[in-house]
Amino acid sequence: MKIHEYQAKEILRQFGVPTPRGVPCFTVAEAETAAHTLGGAAWVVKAQIHAGGRGKGGGVKVARSADEVNEYAAQVLGMHLVTHQTGMEGQLVRRLLIEEGAQIAQEFYVGMVIDRSRQRVVLMASSEGGMEIEEVAAHTPEKIRKLWIDPATGLADAEADGIARSIGIPDVALHDARACLQGLYRAFVEKDATLAEINPLVLTAQQRVVALDAKINFDDNALFRHPEIVALRDLDEENPAEIEASKFDLSYIALDGDIGCLVNGAGLAMATMDIIKLYGGSPANFLDVGGGATTEKVTEAFKLMLKNPHLKAILVNIFGGIMKCDVIAEGVVAAAREVRLTVPLVVRLEGTNVDLGKKILAESGLPIISAGNMADAAQQVVAAAKG
Ligand code: ADP
Ligand code: MG
Repeated sequence: MKIHEYQAKEILRQFGVPTPRGVPCFTVAEAETAAHTLGGAAWVVKAQIHAGGRGKGGGVKVARSADEVNEYAAQVLGMHLVTHQTGMEGQLVRRLLIEEGAQIAQEFYVGMVIDRSRQRVVLMASSEGGMEIEEVAAHTPEKIRKLWIDPATGLADAEADGIARSIGIPDVALHDARACLQGLYRAFVEKDATLAEINPLVLTAQQRVVALDAKINFDDNALFRHPEIVALRDLDEENPAEIEASKFDLSYIALDGDIGCLVNGAGLAMATMDIIKLYGGSPANFLDVGGGATTEKVTEAFKLMLKNPHLKAILVNIFGGIMKCDVIAEGVVAAAREVRLTVPLVVRLEGTNVDLGKKILAESGLPIISAGNMADAAQQVVAAAKG
């Protein structure tokens, strides 16, 4: 699960990480009031969307007066902010963060993720703040310092100081830097994060170290023990089809192609998307109906796929193991009838009771294209989509 920058900063503050003071706002009037409340001589108007790269896209603006706050807030609120993470159509800005402007002397990067092979949280830090860490990793990997944190001891003072010095934070600011790094780590662990990133972490003209941006992603499997995190969920930022899918316990990810995929098992779903690509098609979604797909679930899955206006054909690819092919076939037929299918449907079944399953499809009277194997299925569905 993702949250907004201002929410991530609120969490980091609880863990002692210094951040600029700021106020989340939903209207231009609120933004202007926030500027007065915060005081000072410079404010930053920041679009709150669940995507990075807002600065480059025009979603972060420095204002020098309350009038400018007003002007920028009016510009940014309601804009479709396009960044490298939003896709071409951009993301509608509904919330702002009005924040006191910091005087930046230097920008750094710090982030944490789980390194599964080492079974530890890895702290990554770099002198190249404000840049995408992927870019730094690709072009100047030597500029990224890494530290694998021992879960028994946490991030020790000396380790935090060592990392901070190694990226160029001066000694006068080590105390602040330590608070940032240790706070980030404690927040990561206690809130069950999968990623926590401060980019940029800055050294100010006053020699303070402050988190100017913050991003935290959470482990969905741990949300049951964090109602306070679930409360931060912003459904406006999530794909409506994916929200609908989560209600029916379907793993659905919207993609930008035109061939709907309905598959059991995440691995088979990935392979299905690959083979569609191989034959020149483009998947409209990833969809794993899981091992125990009921007729109801399959029907909901069809409904979800059919909501996509770009959809040109559907491929159902099921391996009947525990789930038998005849049960799946009945589910597919019932679902296809209920949703009144408007696009060609290719079905590939394999496994337990496959012959019975194919018979049910053939006798259904529905225009279902039955495929012999995966390659055949992919070729047929690509041809059907090209129509
Ligand atoms: P994004 O990563 O989405 O582009 P950031 O929050 O990192 O958004 O902001 C982009 C840039 O704007 C930062 O690298 C920093 O230079 C500047 N910036 C952000 N917040 C402030 C602030 N409170 N004061 C001064 N500059 C800021
Ligand atoms: Mg940033």
